[in-house]
Amino acid sequence: MEVREKPRSDFQYTVVGPGEYFIDEIFQGHKFPTFYTEKRLAALEFKLTDGYKDLVKTWKKVSLSLKTFEGCYWGKCYFCTYNESYLNKQKSLSQERANILIKTMNGINKTLTKLNSDLSVSFYFSHASIKRKNLRHMIEALNQYKKGNYSWVSFMRPEMWVKKHLADIGATKGIIDIGFEIISYRDVVNKGASVKEHVSLALAARENNVPVYGEFMYGIPKTDIKDMLYYLFGMCRIKHTLLCVALGQLWVEDCTYYSKNPDEFDITLYDVAPLTNYGQTEEEEEEEEDPKYKSGFAAVSGFTLKKGQRKWIGMNKKFLQAMEVVLEGKPETWEYYPDYMEKMEKSEALKIAHTFFPKEKELSYEIADHVWSIS
Ligand code: SF4
Repeated sequence: MEVREKPRSDFQYTVVGPGEYFIDEIFQGHKFPTFYTEKRLAALEFKLTDGYKDLVKTWKKVSLSLKTFEGCYWGKCYFCTYNESYLNKQKSLSQERANILIKTMNGINKTLTKLNSDLSVSFYFSHASIKRKNLRHMIEALNQYKKGNYSWVSFMRPEMWVKKHLADIGATKGIIDIGFEIISYRDVVNKGASVKEHVSLALAARENNVPVYGEFMYGIPKTDIKDMLYYLFGMCRIKHTLLCVALGQLWVEDCTYYSKNPDEFDITLYDVAPLTNYGQTEEEEEEEEDPKYKSGFAAVSGFTLKKGQRKWIGMNKKFLQAMEVVLEGKPETWEYYPDYMEKMEKSEALKIAHTFFPKEKELSYEIADHVWSIS
């Protein structure tokens, strides 16, 4: 429970943390202070009501979100609100809690597959980027306690240490959800990751049969043509490693580093950025003229550049059109699940780059050579 507004007169208690112990004990006559912090872990019991039991029998796949821990140890990406929006900053995960989580997953999987033996179950861990120590705890618990054929998904940053864990992740049916954001020669979003880390990790995941969900973003202020070409070639190089692609246009939210420091990025903010319309809208698709595209782009971003807006939008538009070719379809929604994507050769990537960025042939050759030299 949490209270953000002034308490009403009939309000008596605030409990920070799981409230079920409090409710149970207060009915037994126990006394509590008005503001009470519950330190016990939430009970992880899973029960299905009769209505759900019938539904489960009709499902083919189910993905359940499981609370692991909060916050992000990195916490620096300019566009991110994660650490601002979640009040509970429990960033660490003990081995004890990891063990409880895996045993809980076993129990849930058993309950569901007993009702429907063909059901494919996966668990999405609720944390943002996982740090090395927390991943070790989860892997140890998975290796020791996992029972059942379910899969699990963990969000992570592209860091080289993850490679050491890929064999274990693959062996326990893990999927890694990576925030690539933009594969660029500069770290334009303060992600703390280089082109080499982005590309090398995705390729290593593929070698270990670990599927990758890739999160990408375009429309970042101050990006230049070299950033976009790196991004395009990076995507071409790793596309066959991706099971799911989320490609969306940046929009600047309150509480982000962008919204607090617009002058640093030479941007003018709108009061309210819309919450929908990731990616290209239908209106933009039908519109041939740049001015309309320009206004559509700005309305989704929630900001405009103080200088060079038109040129920058043109570059982003070309990038998005090139991506439609690379991804073998039009990513119309925030999440896009390609059936299967073939490995792309350097020559094919160059052909796409030359089609959409014909004036940048020399730069394209240079970047393609660099991106394809990464193993
Ligand atoms: S790594 Fe992810 S969760 Fe962490 S600050 Fe960056 S975008 Fe936010």
